[in-house]
Parts: sequence; structure tokens; C-alpha cells
Amino acid sequence: MQNVATFAFKEFGSSGNFVCDQSLPPCMPASKRQFHTEALFSDIRELRDVPRDKFLQFVRTLHDNPTLLDNPASARRFKQDLFHRLDSVLVSDTFALQNGGGTFTLESCDPGELVQLTCLCAPKLAQLYWSANAEKSCSRDRPWRAIIGFDEFLPGNPTGGQHSKKTMCVYFNFVELGHATLVESATWMCPLIIPTEIETSVEGEWSRILADFLQRFFFGPTGFLTAGVAITYNGQSFVLFATLGIIMSDGDGLRKAFNWRGAGSMRPCFRHDNILRKNSGLLEQLPGFYEVSHPVPADFNLRTADDLFDSADKVEAAHRRFQTGNLGVTLFGNICKSESLNYHALALPWRLNLRSTIDWYGCFTYDWAHSMLQDGPLNVEVFQYLKVCKNFVYFAEVRDWLLLLWIFPAAYRNKGYLLWKIFSEWRQNKDGEHDKLHCSASELLGAYALVRLLLEMRVPDAPERRAAKESFLLCCKLVDIIQAAKKRTMSMLEAADLLEATLIEYLAKHTEAYGDAHIRPKFHWLFDIVEQFRRDEMVHDQFIIERLHLRIKPPAEKVDNLRRWERSVLAEALNHQAQDLKLLQGPCHILDNQVMHSPQFPDATFCKNIRVMGMHLSVRDVVFWQDRVGEIVLCGHEQPDGFFVFLELWDEIEVMTDHASTWRATSRRRAMVDALEVEMVCAWRQLDGDKYVVVRH
Ligand SMILES: [Zn+2]
Repeated sequence: MQNVATFAFKEFGSSGNFVCDQSLPPCMPASKRQFHTEALFSDIRELRDVPRDKFLQFVRTLHDNPTLLDNPASARRFKQDLFHRLDSVLVSDTFALQNGGGTFTLESCDPGELVQLTCLCAPKLAQLYWSANAEKSCSRDRPWRAIIGFDEFLPGNPTGGQHSKKTMCVYFNFVELGHATLVESATWMCPLIIPTEIETSVEGEWSRILADFLQRFFFGPTGFLTAGVAITYNGQSFVLFATLGIIMSDGDGLRKAFNWRGAGSMRPCFRHDNILRKNSGLLEQLPGFYEVSHPVPADFNLRTADDLFDSADKVEAAHRRFQTGNLGVTLFGNICKSESLNYHALALPWRLNLRSTIDWYGCFTYDWAHSMLQDGPLNVEVFQYLKVCKNFVYFAEVRDWLLLLWIFPAAYRNKGYLLWKIFSEWRQNKDGEHDKLHCSASELLGAYALVRLLLEMRVPDAPERRAAKESFLLCCKLVDIIQAAKKRTMSMLEAADLLEATLIEYLAKHTEAYGDAHIRPKFHWLFDIVEQFRRDEMVHDQFIIERLHLRIKPPAEKVDNLRRWERSVLAEALNHQAQDLKLLQGPCHILDNQVMHSPQFPDATFCKNIRVMGMHLSVRDVVFWQDRVGEIVLCGHEQPDGFFVFLELWDEIEVMTDHASTWRATSRRRAMVDALEVEMVCAWRQLDGDKYVVVRH
């Protein structure tokens, strides 16, 4: 019987009678149709027009009869196998420790062999490499571009006494694999981790370790610029060559990587060589130089790799003269200061063989999230504007506002429910005052839209607050634009232009409201981020790095054997990755271990949680779809069309602000929607009865 139904469906499909759009075939009006849950359907879209009670009954039946996701190899066998195989890609490097502290042997994965091993374990990943190669064929002359990201993180509870496990982690992937693959954390490789305690005592520190890693990455025995890496799929191989496309970290990570003196130095921008720190006192002596508050991007002078190497050579020569006693310590210090580099013979800028092959300025990437949301402009704006609005709304009111029963998308729910803490007395200083906004980047990203709504609703307009208000709203708009580019509702070039124009306007308003007292290098870095947007095909940020830390976190907390700690953690992390890769389905992903099938729709798999293009969608989430709001009642995947969600659409009642409106949850209309077409909202809250307020970014 099932075969007949499938056959009939295909026949209908090819005859073109079943158009996926709005209506059922004209043979019988939808309202006249009978619905029997036992009946065989020919198209899943018919579920759109089934009466609500019958539809919900169908959903309940599905949920009551889950099946385990198809999982051919037992997890245990797979694990042992991989543990064994990891040894074949391990390499060790012995580093001398500073001050005669002996040596340390670091075990890490050979990057080329790691890619090979992972593709071998996960044919789905190999397939992604193959389809990317079919689109942009890779050769020694036309190499792909690697993205390398690194950051430190602390496994476990910060108060749990595991500070010795604070770890620097390196991850990489390839630009050519495309947006859909890059947003899937399972496709990223983790070749190297090193406890910060050891990293800071190695001769040459992080810059040297990273340089050694890059040396192996590009010029090792299976280096991406020498032999290349063979990617095998279905018995066929192609050789992957890659150069460095993007290197990204937070400001401090980049400072360490390049032995740069960082945001606090005389030259607080690595990319522009005529930017000085605030109150440098040098503007009069140095025509053509500007301080970080300067708002005209056309005046900035982009450095080239040659400029960097000139600087590095100058510092090296000075160091040589200093060593032989021909240069005093003050003068040597001043040269390092004016070039903004700290010298170490093994550090990245002095590795001659890496100089000629890598475009250090083309790949250098500031992270927008750390620049904007961690002690960045948005932190400043929220805090300063709250101070301006103190008589209407202050920290306690924002805390109470966030404690209202806001509902967040499932993927963010746990974090969302704790957002009130940012504004609680817990984050006051010892004098019982809020001295700045203490919060993580993802907390601020979740909170700013709700705080903006509160301030817009409760604070009346007044001339004395006008500049501060506009400055705050423009800063929020900057984040909105980046979010839109990230969600791909705006193209990168369009976002770059809008970002630049808004940034110039914002800096003017900010200066009008507060002078330059709060301006710091991160404000200027936003201009560099505009240029990165013009360069890149998608938004690259550290949020993916933070998701990748979650792969390292459980083994890093668990493994206490510090003798071969890195190897044990990497092996377990690779296991996690291999398990995650098994669940990959093209660019999209079913997140549940249990799924549902219905005999009526043999080609469909139903589930409660999916991830499409990095967006996590769950049943009961409220989402935007074509300027409508709807609640997800069912998700799933249908061959060959892809991922879908069923929405119960709400009716708009009233627009409150540019980013918030009220809706009635009527649930009279249902839509079956391509999961790629929906957009997540920030939060929603029930007002009374079936009336809800929905807030978007
Ligand atoms: Zn710059």
C-alpha cells in the first residue's frame, strides 16, 4: 500500500499538479475535504489545510511514537576506533620554557592529516569538500582560503578552582566550503590546544607557538601549500591546497599572535598605520596622523605587509644593537614603542619563511562581537544612556523589566532567563554602584533590543537628552545591521555601506553627547570591520569559536591526567565532532536524537529541533516569516525538498516601535514554510489572553 502511495505522489509531482505554493489542486475545495488521520496523503502540504484539532492530533500521534535516529555504528566502537586512529595524526613539538624552566612537549594534530582523518570518518564532510571543489576547483595555483580562529577559554565553573585548565584553542575551516557549512560547528577542525599557563611560559609565547603551527599548516609534510591534502570520497580523491584567508581572534588574541603592543599602545590599530591613541600629544608633530576618535575613513592609511616587515626589521636591528651594547635600554624601548611591536626572534613577524606566502593584511580580522559588545561601544552607550535617563529608568527598572515573563527562542532560553543579572546588584562594585556594564558579548546581544524597547517606552523625549538618545539608538542600529548581514537578510556590501554611514553619524552624535571621554580603540576598529565586510562573503565572528569551545569543554573538565592532557582532550573532542558530523544533512541538521515518521508521508521525517544555516529552530519558538509572526508547531525534513516548519500565524494588532509590535495568537491560519525563510525574533511575552508583544533585533 505504501509503495502505491509513493508512486502516486511521484506521478502527481511530475504532472505539475502539486504546486508548493498556496492552494490545493482545484479538484475539490479545501474546506470540503475530509480529514482522516489514517488516510494516505500524497503531499505533506495538504497538512496546511487540515482542521486545527485534527492537525494537533496528528502532531500528538507523531510525538508519542518517536524512533531513534538511524545510527549504524555503535558509539562505543566508533570511539575506540577513533582513539586509536588519532595517534596516527598526532605530532609533538618540544618547547624550551622561559628562565631555564626545562622543556615542554606539546602533542597536537597535524592539520592536513586531521582533515584527511575526519573526512575518512565522516563521508558527509568529505562530500561537502567535494561539492565545494566542484564549484571552485582547487589547485596549487588557485588554493582555497583557510580560516584560522583562536581564543582562550576556561573550562568549568570559574569559581571551581580549575584556573590551571584555562586553555588556548585553535580551530580552522575553509572559506570555499561556503556559508552553510561554516555555520555548522561540526565542520570545524580543532588541531591544537594548550593550557595558558604553559603557553605563557614557552620561549616566544603564543606568537611562536602559532607561528610553528602555521609553519606546519602550510609547509609541513602534508602542508596545504606543499604536498596538499588528499580528500577522498567514493573512492576518488582531489588534492586540497590552501593559503591563509582569515586569521581572527579578539583584540588580545591578535595582540599576542603578532607580538603587537595592542589597543593600549601608541598605535592602537594594527591595520592602519596613521592612527594614534587618544591624547597621544603627537598630532602636531606628526601631520597625517589621527587619533582613534577620528571619524573620516578616507583619511586612514592601510598598512601593507611590507610596512609590517619594515617595522619588524627595524625592531630586530635595534635589538641587535641593544644586545651588543650600542643602544641604550630607553632608546630600544622607544623604538619598540613607536613600531608597536615586542621583539622575539621566534615570534610571527620575524619568521621569514611565513612572510612571502601569507598576505598578513589581507587576512587580519578583528572580531566585531568582541569589538562591539565586550567593553565596546554598545556597553558604553547602554551604561551612559541609562545614567542620562536615571530619573525614569535605571538599573533596577531594567532588571525588573527583564524579569518579566519574556520567552526566548529555545536555543537562547537558558541564557535569556538570566539576562536580568546584568542589571542586578550582583554586578555592582564594592561601593554598591554600577560603574560600567559588566556582561559577556552574548548577554549584551540578547539584552540590548529589550533594553532599547524599555527606554523608548518609558523615557519621554527632551532636548537635553536628544543627543544621548540618538547616539544610543545609532549604536543599536550598528548591531542591527551586523545582525542582518549575519542572517543574510542584507548583502555584505550593502551592510558595509550602511554600517560605514551609520558609524560616522554615530561617532558625531556620541561626541556631541559625551565628548571623547569614552572613545577607545574598539570604536575605531569598527571602521576596520566595515572594510572586512567589503572583503568577505559572510560575517566571520568569534561566536562560532565560542560554540566550538563547547566541544572542548566536557573533556577538558573531565580529564585530570595532565601528563598527556592535550592528547586525551583532543581525542575526545574528535569523537564529539565525528558524532555531530553523522547528523549533518547538507547545510541543515536535525538536532534531536529521536525523530518521528508517519506512514502517510514516507518521504518526511518530523522532529522538534532543527538547525538551518546556523539558525536553531524549535517547536514553540516564535519566528518572523514575510513580515508575519508565527509559532512553530512542527519541524522536519522532506526528501528532496529540504527542511520545513509548520507555523500557526498570528495577527498583528499594533506597531509599538521600529522593533516591537503586538500580535494576537489566533492560530486560525497555518503555513508550511521553507525553514530557510524564517527569521528568529529576540523575545516575546504574553500581555493578556492571546495578546503578545514580539521584539526583534
Ligand atoms: Zn584601523
